[in-house]
Amino acid sequence: MEVPPNFNTSIPMVQGNTPFGSIFQAVPVEAATTRVEAVPTGAEAAPTDAEAAPTDAEAAPTGAEAAPTDAEAAPTDAEAAPTDVKPSIALGIKKSGHSSGCTRFYFVLYRTMDRYYFDWAATAQPANPWFNPLTGLYGNPSSRHLEGRRARNALEEARSRCAKILGVQPGELYFTSGGTESNAIPLHSLLLRKNAAILVSAVEHPSVRENALALERLGLGLTHIGVERDGRITEQTLLAALEKAPGTRFAAIMGVNNETGAVMDLPGLARRLRSRKPPVHIHSDLVQALGKLPLDINGWDLDSASFSAHKIGGPRGVGLLWLCKPLEVLDLGGGQEGGIRPGTENTAGAVALADCMERFAAPQAVEANVSAAKDRWKVLIRALRNIDRCTLIPEDRLDDDDRFSPWILQAGFRGIPGEVMARALDDAGFAVGTGSACSSRLHKRPVLEAMGIRGDLALEGIRISQGWSSSIEEIEKLIAAIVKILEVL
Ligand code: PLP
Repeated sequence: MEVPPNFNTSIPMVQGNTPFGSIFQAVPVEAATTRVEAVPTGAEAAPTDAEAAPTDAEAAPTGAEAAPTDAEAAPTDAEAAPTDVKPSIALGIKKSGHSSGCTRFYFVLYRTMDRYYFDWAATAQPANPWFNPLTGLYGNPSSRHLEGRRARNALEEARSRCAKILGVQPGELYFTSGGTESNAIPLHSLLLRKNAAILVSAVEHPSVRENALALERLGLGLTHIGVERDGRITEQTLLAALEKAPGTRFAAIMGVNNETGAVMDLPGLARRLRSRKPPVHIHSDLVQALGKLPLDINGWDLDSASFSAHKIGGPRGVGLLWLCKPLEVLDLGGGQEGGIRPGTENTAGAVALADCMERFAAPQAVEANVSAAKDRWKVLIRALRNIDRCTLIPEDRLDDDDRFSPWILQAGFRGIPGEVMARALDDAGFAVGTGSACSSRLHKRPVLEAMGIRGDLALEGIRISQGWSSSIEEIEKLIAAIVKILEVL
């Protein structure tokens, strides 16, 4: 059967953006096939209007039979999810409008394919706990009746479990809606302090960078801490920034950069800041560090830190703010979470976060996972080094390099814009990112620019990030796909 030329026959399974994470994970091939059969892959090929899209249930079943609608239909364990989905052929019907006014129907043959996920830094593949409906916990934790008390107990137990993993006191942890809010709360609180001057590293996630710029527009002094070519802050770059901003009251320095994997020397930098007068509040975005590197929050002498559940297999929309001392905050409400993060608490999310922390962020789990991640990254980095058109970012990153997280890698391919490479890999079955997922549509690379990487290489960068269930075989397949793409692009 002939496939109409405007259809790309390699269909990546629909993935992401469902309460179940990746559909390809959650649905057996047959079900996934019926669900995606009428979805063309390429943006050009994608029907953009209702006309072009199949409208009847027969052409594109979107009903309950095709998509999992309940927790049972989803896999209950990351390992249990089918990662070896085999290519298969599916038949679909495509309807399209014609200039003559008639409607045409095409039979189209689609090929579903294996998917390999290398965008864990954007969001991890889901772990099992958050599929649980937690039916007994629907009460509002602030209510005094039995249902409320049950929810309160579950919430406080979750807090204690998270605190134990992080080695902090439960009363120092506040559940938030995620990493973005955990960064915003301490930053926004600066509006309540007179003449607060702030230092922010030049490679922060947009949730810090953009909020700091907003504070500057509102009149606060803002100074950026520069980074070396490897994307790391050194004592020298920190001291240079402090010289420019002697009245600094607040410094934000992330633990692990989400685009390059650069690991900051938080204890050394905090020591430098601690000796300052007036005292500096030290905030660290540890979103990409949790579960990925050993943490020592107390030992590092920080004042606050942020965490996000969905980077460690938990649900979106829940995170933690650790505060060594309570802050006066800008956003007020019903006083929940000690008034630090008002709003009815996400009890189920908090319990899921605690489950994921115990599973992936406990020191023993981190140790074992980091060691396996390093082994896999060595294979990847060595292979990329052998590819003539590939430049690692930064170029001098070694295959086993403690300056970088073994979970994230940035690399560029000469002559191929990062977005084109990411798209070609997507069509070949591999999910990778470019910058941070949230700024990937902005076509800007401020992190790479801060590292002095400009011009073509900055635009060529792609981010490859792995997770617990990644394997050497997947990495070998990724390398083979890159080599193949380079033969044609
Ligand atoms: N900080 C870093 C370093 C991140 O990578 C992200 C997510 O990409 C965030 C903060 C934001 O976290 P969330 O998506 O939970 O708001």
